[in-house]
Amino acid sequence: MMKLDPSNGVFSISALIALLMIELPVMAAPESQFPDISIPFGAESVGIDNVYYFHGQSGVPDQQNEGYTSNAGFVVTNKGVVVFDALGTPSLGAAMLKEIRKQTHLPVTHIIVSHYHADHVYGLQAFKAMTDAEVIAQKNTSVYISSPDAEERLKQRQNALAPWVNETTRVVLPDLTFKDELFLNSGNYQFKIYNAGPAHAPGDSMMMVEPGGVLFSGDIIQQGRVPFLNSAQVDTANWMKAIEKVKALNPVVLIPGHGKASTNVMEALNFTYGYLNFVREKMKNAVDNWTPFEEAYQSTDWSRYEGLPAFDASNKANAYRVYLDMEQQALGSE
Ligand SMILES: [Zn+2]
Repeated sequence: MMKLDPSNGVFSISALIALLMIELPVMAAPESQFPDISIPFGAESVGIDNVYYFHGQSGVPDQQNEGYTSNAGFVVTNKGVVVFDALGTPSLGAAMLKEIRKQTHLPVTHIIVSHYHADHVYGLQAFKAMTDAEVIAQKNTSVYISSPDAEERLKQRQNALAPWVNETTRVVLPDLTFKDELFLNSGNYQFKIYNAGPAHAPGDSMMMVEPGGVLFSGDIIQQGRVPFLNSAQVDTANWMKAIEKVKALNPVVLIPGHGKASTNVMEALNFTYGYLNFVREKMKNAVDNWTPFEEAYQSTDWSRYEGLPAFDASNKANAYRVYLDMEQQALGSE
């Protein structure tokens, strides 16, 4: 019936086609490599030519925001595209690339990673799959990458952010690391990448874009939510120094790790600085006066931060972490 008889070529070919048509659905067309996102997503201009950013939602990664809770961005030069951070799922990374392609078909040459927390890096996987971009990070990011925290976080996100983070999701390591600073030229632009850590995480980096004076600060600056301090790797004293460095760079536009990009740089900077300063001061006083943590926490007036996203999730643990640091410092100092 289906035999390929050379004396009856027409029949044989149509039989072959019939066979293929039957077989095709079985050989299912390849699924898109990364599950699609359904949230609104797009690159926003920051008012400076060729510089765009993705503005994540506030709050913690969940099914509603699909893990889109941090910022990332890119700069189109006449030689290629330089990306800063890659968002919190491979699907979001793929969506970023789609948006980049609306602006240019030049290759993505570099991705600078502000730090290796989950909400900023899982998108790297999509860039690795679809571009030849080189991933750059500060060398101390290895401290976090190889810590049990990184592994536990991936498991947590495989639950919280399924199907976008799943069993195929992996952490893409940097191709190139630097210690203090790295200057990169691409066409008409210069990218100055600075070590700002350990502050929010080991190996915090920020990137200044010239011309334009746009600073991608990573999580050194966070807007409109209570920053996360409850990690053994957070160094609040160094973090405040990093913010002073941001001030010295005097950017025209600041793109924080979370929250809206701003031309009112001082306001953006003062929020994170003010929070760190407030928590440190209150907890230092408590330690100096031998006040137990619970009592110190309850007697502190948190009203200026209470209404902010992540207050309930983070504030008390933040305060406790800082209290323990202050205690350690008090005991350790001569
Ligand atoms: Zn973050």
